[in-house]
Amino acid sequence: MRESMLDAMGPTRERLIADLRRHVGDERVLAALAAVPRDLFVPPQRRRAAWVNEALPLGGGQTISQPLVVAHMAELLRVREGDRVLDVGTGSGYHAAVLAQLGARVWSVERNPELSARARENLAAARVEGVELIVGDGTLGHPPAAPYDAINVAASARDAVPPALLDQLGHGARLVIPVGERLLLVGRDADGALHHADAGGVRFVPLVPGDA
Ligand code: SAH
Repeated sequence: MRESMLDAMGPTRERLIADLRRHVGDERVLAALAAVPRDLFVPPQRRRAAWVNEALPLGGGQTISQPLVVAHMAELLRVREGDRVLDVGTGSGYHAAVLAQLGARVWSVERNPELSARARENLAAARVEGVELIVGDGTLGHPPAAPYDAINVAASARDAVPPALLDQLGHGARLVIPVGERLLLVGRDADGALHHADAGGVRFVPLVPGDA
C-alpha cells in the first residue's frame, strides 16, 4: 500500500510495530505490543493517537508511556512465561498488560485510586488476565508477593532506587527504573550481588513517595 494511502487511514498498529522493530530486537516484545490493544488504555478522546509512538496524557498530569519506552523496558527485563513481576505506577494499566502478555503474573501498584479503578476497567475491556491491582505507595513495593523475578518502575525516582524494591528483587532478577532522567537497569545475580547499568536517557513523571 502506498504511504499516502496509509496516511489517509491514520496511524495503524502495523506501522507502529514496524517503526519499533528498527529499535527493538526482541520479537516476543514486539508481538506483545502488537497484541495489546493500546486504544483501550488511552482516554476516549485520544483514541486516534493510540498507535502513534508517543506518550499521551491520562489526566491529572499523568501519562501513558511511549510505546518505544515500554518495549525497551520490557526487553531489558527479559520477562519469561510464569515470571512474577512487580509493576510500580499502574497509570492506565497498559504497561502491566504488556508484561502480562509476555506471560508474567503481574502485581501493579498505583498511588492514585481513580487511575487504578480506570486501569481495572481498561484491563477488563482488553480481556487481560493475570494482573492484580494494588492501591498504595509503590516505593514500598508489594511485600506479600515478593520476591519478584522482575520489577518495572514507570515513574522517575529523584536520586536513588527505593530500598524496599531492592529487598524484593529475587536472585537472578532484574529491575528497571528511571532515576532522574536516566533509565537504570539493576540485576541481582545468583549469589545475591547487585549490578547496575545505565540504559539510556528517558523522561518520566515523578515517583512520589507516600499515599495519595
Ligand atoms: N505505566 C503506566 C504509566 C505510568 S505514569 C501506563 O502504562 O499507563 C506514572 C504513574 O505512577 C502515575 O499513574 C502515578 O500516579 C504513579 N505513581 C507515582 N508515584 C507513585 C508511587 N509512589 N506509588 C505508586 N504509583 C505511583
